[in-house]
Amino acid sequence: EAQKATERYVFYHPKMGQQLIERLVLEQDLHYALDNGEIYLEYQPQINLRTGSIDSVEALVRWQHPEKGLISPAAFIPIAEETGLIVPIGEWILETACRQVKQWHNEGISHIGVAVNLSTGQFFQQNLVGMVEDILARTDLPPHYLELEITESMTVDTNHMADILHDLKQLGVKIAVDDFGTGYSSMYYLKKFPIDCLKIDRSFVRNVQSDHHDDVLISMMISMAKHLELKVVAEGVEEIGQLSFLADCDIIQGYLFSRPIDPEELSANFDTIQKK
Ligand code: C2E
Ligand code: CA
Ligand code: CA
Ligand code: CA
Repeated sequence: EAQKATERYVFYHPKMGQQLIERLVLEQDLHYALDNGEIYLEYQPQINLRTGSIDSVEALVRWQHPEKGLISPAAFIPIAEETGLIVPIGEWILETACRQVKQWHNEGISHIGVAVNLSTGQFFQQNLVGMVEDILARTDLPPHYLELEITESMTVDTNHMADILHDLKQLGVKIAVDDFGTGYSSMYYLKKFPIDCLKIDRSFVRNVQSDHHDDVLISMMISMAKHLELKVVAEGVEEIGQLSFLADCDIIQGYLFSRPIDPEELSANFDTIQKK
């Protein structure tokens, strides 16, 4: 009997079993993470290159797991998507971000906007548009302060997505294409969707000083965005030397100015970051 049991598992690498178990445990824990207060947001400033001011922030979700410590969104957002937990978590993220920005407005930082990442699963959920509308109403945030980031890798039915994006635009929120240039359908997205903003992916920004190809590609993306009258954000800017290649961007986001930080830290350091 015992031998049979071993035989049955002979095709599985032990490490694979381990990974599956890890993943199942995370999945279980994620069900309770929101209610346990383990999920929170950090905010990364988006600097207006011309004025030097913090025009807006991007909300980035974090999971402080009680035993495993900090888990990156790249690790748990896919699990949230597969389990459907992205719906309650996504709603919490959106409401928390809108509430925070409204609070900054009330504290006198009255111009600041917020960018929130939307994931694929949220386009499948019941009434995404109604949810956004309700959250804007509940938090009393004027819609134009909210920008929703969508990624090119979203393999949703594009007609369905275009419909939803047009409805979201009707509410008065802005739409940004995240990780621009990395997907298969960048140009198609610009043609098909009501886009306000294009975020040049970090993979281009990273090598801009050393790789002439990236320099050329970035120039082309900026020029294209200008012709289409889109706002351009360069993300992942870490070094001052990269700025000279990004001079025609509208917004710079990256460790050069600030890492994603918690809202209290941002409030306290608002002026310091702007003076950089
Ligand atoms: P993303 O939307 O492209 O976010 C940018 C990522 O780059 C963030 O990682 C940010 O911390 C990091 N970053 C910013 N500046 C720099 C820099 O100068 N250098 C480097 N090396 N990295 C920089 P993070 O927070 O770990 O998020 C990873 C991804 O997880 C995000 O990529 C996004 O796709 C997803 N994500 C994060 N928060 C949310 C969320 O609230 N909802 C959804 N659906 N996805 C989220
Ligand atoms: Ca993003
Ligand atoms: Ca991005
Ligand atoms: Ca990304």
